[in-house]
Order: sequence, then structure tokens, then C-alpha cells
Amino acid sequence: MSGPRPAPAPVSAFATLGLTRSLQRACAELGFVEPTAVQVQAIPPALDGRDLIARAPTGSGKTAAYGLALLHRFDITPRTGRRVTRALLLVPTRELAVQAGQTLRSLARHMAEPVKVAVVFGGVSVNPQMMGLRGGAEVVVATPGRLLDLVERHALQLDAVQLLVLDEADRLLDDGFADELERVLALLPPERQHLLYSATFPPSVQALAARLLQEPVRVEVDAAPEAGGPAIEQHAVEVDTGQRTALLRRLLALHDWPRVLVFVATRHASEHVADKLQRAGIAAAAFHGELSQGARTRVLGDLHSGRLRVVLATDMAARGLHIPGLAAVVNYDLPRSPADYTHRIGRTARAGAAGVAYSFVPAAGEAHFRLIEKRQGQRVARERVEGLEPRESAPPPSPAEGGIKGRRKSRKDKLREAAAAAAAG
Ligand code: ADP
Ligand code: MG
Repeated sequence: MSGPRPAPAPVSAFATLGLTRSLQRACAELGFVEPTAVQVQAIPPALDGRDLIARAPTGSGKTAAYGLALLHRFDITPRTGRRVTRALLLVPTRELAVQAGQTLRSLARHMAEPVKVAVVFGGVSVNPQMMGLRGGAEVVVATPGRLLDLVERHALQLDAVQLLVLDEADRLLDDGFADELERVLALLPPERQHLLYSATFPPSVQALAARLLQEPVRVEVDAAPEAGGPAIEQHAVEVDTGQRTALLRRLLALHDWPRVLVFVATRHASEHVADKLQRAGIAAAAFHGELSQGARTRVLGDLHSGRLRVVLATDMAARGLHIPGLAAVVNYDLPRSPADYTHRIGRTARAGAAGVAYSFVPAAGEAHFRLIEKRQGQRVARERVEGLEPRESAPPPSPAEGGIKGRRKSRKDKLREAAAAAAAG
């Protein structure tokens, strides 16, 4: 034997997951040195063709976890003839469709046979998307409504889809998307693989997920920072409802956060608070579902470029968005559910970055915030800010709202109540 040999050139840690060289190369170029926990656990069973349900923390690289598995399949099968849609990725919002499409395209850039990734979503003219689908696309990234629209217009066929990915799967499986999802499923061939991803799977959607999946592999990645979850510094400030804008301005003055996402409960609140901040000389704008798609894109672009410092958003921005340099998330209004809390605060402290989350807790929201803490399995110390100490006390629990149930009425609840009142009157 000769003397000690130099160690072999290090191969990408992604090689051990069984991924093709072209995908490994793309990962390296994106700066991915090591696969994240969810990538290590979820990619091999997905490559084996198994159904999979994966819960992993916000910002832990779920997009590449399903994206790499999805693209690998095309990288190992030579294409024959026309492009047919073999993989479908559903997401709940337009911005997420764009973001996931970009990730897939950058992961695919060295593939031997280029894969076409079409991205379709509502709120914009359908014609360019129809043109984009001419000649077929192997991968379609879509919001459900626009997807169905395009199928009806014969711009797209789903009868050869072998792989269905649901990102933010619990959101897509909940009531809001139930009808559309059923209609999409009916268009797919019965033999197919499913990959479901989210940071949260509340009990309410688990039965539905189980119905969809066949002997799924379950991947659960711990959200604790020690286990690679996001290190979000959480704060809860007791404040009167009427003092929240003052408190927000105080926090913005105290901290040099370059980008801040503030969650409110309604479109009206987002515009109202944005307006007040603007008048105080703070670069702020509203982001909600009733803006045109052009305006939505502009607001997020301006936050990204630094033209805006604060975006006041509804829960539409709670899921999936990756905004580099987002230093802080503020819950001006508390989120409706513990899952929403996880997703909202998970817009910061992503991919190993640091981040803070502030929740404003008025006396009337204390019981609700306790419920959120309980579900998170984590207590957040209550703080007060000098000069803005609360004076209000908690209202007595009202029997109509079930007191401790701790949730605001949904639109459905209100409709139900209105219907009941109308029937009674
Ligand atoms: P999630 O969907 O889990 O919330 P994303 O898929 O949006 O998270 O990824 C968050 C960030 O982490 C992205 O900027 C992505 O490029 C980055 N990322 C993904 N995988 C890796 C990796 N293996 N190494 C480093 N960064 C990664
Ligand atoms: Mg995601």
C-alpha cells in the first residue's frame, strides 16, 4: 500500500439521498450545503414512490424537499414525444404559486432534458397562461380555482398526472378549498402518488388526509430550535385595543427592523393602520385579497426592495411566503387559530436566520392567546410598555360566543346566525 491518500473530493451531501447529479449541482449553486432534516427524511421515500405526509417547521426547506423528489423523477425517465403533465403542485395562494415555481425552475436548470414548469393562478389575465400551456408542461404549479378554469377551457389535461403535491396541505384540505379540491381530484387518474406538506396538520384535517393517502410514510420534524426549527424570539405585549397603533409605532421607533410584516384581522384594518403609519412618515402599505394582483405583487416587491418598511397584511400572507430579511412579525390582531399563529410568525427566522415575533394581547384576547400558547406547548411572558400600560379589563365571557371557546366568529358562523335569526323572525 502507498502512503496516505488525499481524501476524495467531497461529494454533495445531497448525493446520499439518491438524487441525480444535475439536481445536486443545482443545490450547490443555490448554496445548499447540507440537506435539511425534512429533506433527509422525506426525499428517499418520495423517490421510492411512497405516499407521504410531512410536517416540518416554517422555513425548513419543504419546497426543495418535494421539488427535488418531483424533478428527480423526470431526470431519470427520458422524455418521449409530447409534453404531458405528470406532476401537479397545488398551493393556496397566487404568491406561493409564483414562489414555488421559481424554486422548481432553479432546481431544474441543469437537468439533461429540460422540464417545463407552468405556473398558473387567478387574478391575472388567463390568456398568457393559456399560451404558456401550449405544447404542454410536465409540471404544473397552480392555485385550484384557476387550474379548474384552464381545464374547462381545454388548455390543460390532468389525466396523466402521476404525482400530486399539496403544499400548505392542511389549508388546501380545509373547508375553504374543499369543493375545488374535490373537483381537481376527480380529474386525476386514480393511480397516483401524493406528497402532503405543511408546518401544521390540525386534527380537523387528518381524517381527510388519511382518506387521500395510501399507507403513507409520516415525516415529523420537531419545531424546537435545538432540532433545527426556527429560532423565533416571541414576545407578548399587554395593551389596550385603542393603543395598538401607538404601540406599533413605538416598536418601529425602538428597533431598526428593516422589514416588518404586521398581521391584522381584516382588509379594512390593514388599510386603516397602513394609512395611519403613512401619515406618521413610515413607509407602509396594505396587503389583502381585494387588491388587484398587480398591487399585491407591487407591495411585496417594494417590501423586498426596501421601498416599504412595513406591510399590513391579512392572513393571506400567513402561509409559505419567503421574504428575505424579514426581521419581525407583529400580530396586531391575534390570529384566529393556533395553526395561523405558527404560520404567521414563521414568516421570520427562516432558513437559520434570526427573527422576532410580537403579539399584541388586549385583555379581551388574553383567554384566546392562552389557548394558542397551550397548543404551542410554550408560554410567552407578558410584557408591558411604559406609557402604554393597559387599563381595560377582560369582558365577562358572553354566553353567545361560548366564552372560553376563544375564537372570533367566522363568516360562516355569522351567516349561520343570520340564517337562524331570519328563520326565527
Ligand atoms: P418552508 O416551505 O419549509 O417554510 P422554504 O422551502 O420556503 O421553507 O425554504 C426556506 C429557505 O430555505 C429558502 O430560502 C430556501 O432556499 C432555503 N433552503 C432550502 N433548503 C436548503 C438547504 N438544504 N440548505 C440551505 N438553505 C436551504
Ligand atoms: Mg413552504
